[in-house]
Amino acid sequence: MSQDLVTFLHARLDEEAELARRCGGDGCGEWTADGRTVDFRHGELPGFHPSIALHVALHDPARVLREVEAKRRVLARHVFSPASGDPELPWDNIDDCQYDGETWPCDDLLDLASPYADHPDYPRRP
Ligand SMILES: [Zn+2]
Repeated sequence: MSQDLVTFLHARLDEEAELARRCGGDGCGEWTADGRTVDFRHGELPGFHPSIALHVALHDPARVLREVEAKRRVLARHVFSPASGDPELPWDNIDDCQYDGETWPCDDLLDLASPYADHPDYPRRP
């Protein structure tokens, strides 16, 4: 699992961003909930349980796009650093994360991937 997890995460973020853009992206305004109704800015839809209405409104496309960009910045910081195999650099003899020095994949990447653990393409450790 060298770059598999990073490739997998980029694919999930691409999917989420594409879906958010198809739902209006940045231009649709903030979704809001009022009781059992969600205001999608292009129309209202009643009939939700109030908690579900709040949950839907919380995931408006603009917020999802901001979250995707934040996760992309985290991914950009946590870069794979392969073991060098150089006997003169014994401390550099493991595959690790260039950002935090943890064994690859680092905990931050595993945490980013954990919500997708049930995805059929989730990379499994050998
Ligand atoms: Zn890291």
